[in-house]
Amino acid sequence: MPLKKSSAFSATRLAADTFLVKETDDIYSENPHIYVKLVPLVNTILLIDTGCGGKSNEDVEITSLREFLETYEVEVNDGKALNSGGFMKYVVVTTHCHYDHILAIEQFQGSLILASSHSPSFLSKANIAEHSLCNSLGIKTPSYDPTLVPHNFSIHSPDHDKTLLDVQILHTPGHTPDEIALYDTTNNLLYVGDTLYEDAPIIFPKEGSIVVWLASMDFLISFVQSIPNGQVLLNAGHCTVNKPALDMLQSAKGFIVDVVEGKEKVVKRTMKRGEGTVEYRQMGGRFSLICPEKLVLDARKSL
Ligand SMILES: [Zn+2]
Repeated sequence: MPLKKSSAFSATRLAADTFLVKETDDIYSENPHIYVKLVPLVNTILLIDTGCGGKSNEDVEITSLREFLETYEVEVNDGKALNSGGFMKYVVVTTHCHYDHILAIEQFQGSLILASSHSPSFLSKANIAEHSLCNSLGIKTPSYDPTLVPHNFSIHSPDHDKTLLDVQILHTPGHTPDEIALYDTTNNLLYVGDTLYEDAPIIFPKEGSIVVWLASMDFLISFVQSIPNGQVLLNAGHCTVNKPALDMLQSAKGFIVDVVEGKEKVVKRTMKRGEGTVEYRQMGGRFSLICPEKLVLDARKSL
């Protein structure tokens, strides 16, 4: 048997048809999550985000996400590659345009790529280099042409009969104007991108808004409360996997409200992209926040 190639990615199973692919040691220390749902009945593989391009601190052989998906034998998938031979067609959804979610997207050129229609100018060709943060990192901005879809959009297979995949896109601006969540109704899984996660700072760029984020959190909380059995699990763009959604949402919101109300103290001040940036850390360390101070002050004013 040939020796298995080393890879910048690892895969674990979250549900019968759903996998987490993680970039384990990327040079940006983002460790982004890429979620994969297989729908072989309609010959479709749904990708939620594409990670930060496979540049690893380790000397690994597989650095292409697409090569990993199509060739890397995954133990928890009965030893088969997730999209063996590349036979299933891709539908790629970006939870938002930050570099650590889009750097591998050019590998899926020609596939259906979906993004939020909430703020088309935010994703425009003129703005994407700045808004993806590629500019500030001095890296090349990937070129891609997403189809912008509305709130409550139901994702379908890319073939002509457009069979629904039972996954819905929800506009949840705040982290960025184009941030979305996805809800998989078959598995009761909620994907929230970078809106929230635990054990690492929730980060807002200067284009974000805590006021808008709080409104999106209220929407997500009532969305989860409206699910008949309520047993929704939450998956984030970093760190958090398969955690009870309602508790995650309410707890993260509670922390940010404490920050806005002045109940948490600034633990660190830095400059980031020309903005005075503050950091807060909850006692016990479950939630923390890094954002331009202006966003906290704006939210305090609007309370
Ligand atoms: Zn982000």
